Amino acid sequence: MQRKRKSLSDKTRFEIFKRDSFTCQYCGKMAPTVVLECDHIDPVANGGSDEMMNLVTSCETCNSGKRARLLSDNAVLTKQQAELCSLAERRKQLLFLKQWRDELQKTDNEAFEFVRNEIETEMSVEFMLSPKHIKTLLKLENLKYVLMAIPIVARRFNGVLIEDDVRQFSQTVSRFATYKREEEEQPEYRHIGFIIGALKKRGGSNRWVPRIVDVLKQIVDAGFSIEGYVKWADGRTYYQFIEQATKDLKEIAPLTEVSDVLD
Ligand SMILES: [Zn+2]
Repeated sequence: MQRKRKSLSDKTRFEIFKRDSFTCQYCGKMAPTVVLECDHIDPVANGGSDEMMNLVTSCETCNSGKRARLLSDNAVLTKQQAELCSLAERRKQLLFLKQWRDELQKTDNEAFEFVRNEIETEMSVEFMLSPKHIKTLLKLENLKYVLMAIPIVARRFNGVLIEDDVRQFSQTVSRFATYKREEEEQPEYRHIGFIIGALKKRGGSNRWVPRIVDVLKQIVDAGFSIEGYVKWADGRTYYQFIEQATKDLKEIAPLTEVSDVLD
């Protein structure tokens, strides 16, 4: 007892008494009715420290060990310990949140690196897509489809990526990634690419491509196969093709709105 008192400065003792409203935290008796002391909750003999959280206001009687020393629920320290527990819990949760965010960030960075690597593998790169371009790409389409699209688009750009083409390159990758995803979701769509490839031989404006894709998708969605068009498209122009496909669509799905397919 004597030893404990000596180890604490008057200042510390005053801070503890003040925190505990000069009230014994075991029995609730107040100064000056009782003589107050500072009690180490975890005894010094056990290695208990002089930190505020290990010190509590106690009357002489309680501190003498003549009573069971149980902190009352109203004890300031009990409340602070409860707060500390919830604080520790909150810290733990924040830490989890941070780790989770870090993991997400790591995944984002990995995806980012995969895209860069794939472009560098497939093309001679004079100018790389900016992080912003890549992030936009990955926001629009799943990494898997972006990676599938890159080699296809790389061939279209003759394996070279220059600064002037960067914007168009990333737009094309995005479009092809969508085709790849749609192909997977609707296997019949896979013929669309072949049909457009066949029609391309006759040249013509690429402005027809979205319309061809649209009418072919409508035919597939109406429950019909478009495989037969792959051969039929060979040697035909975009216009001839769209005229025929629109006519077919009207026959197989008369209720489908196709009036805006042709100008
Ligand atoms: Zn007491």
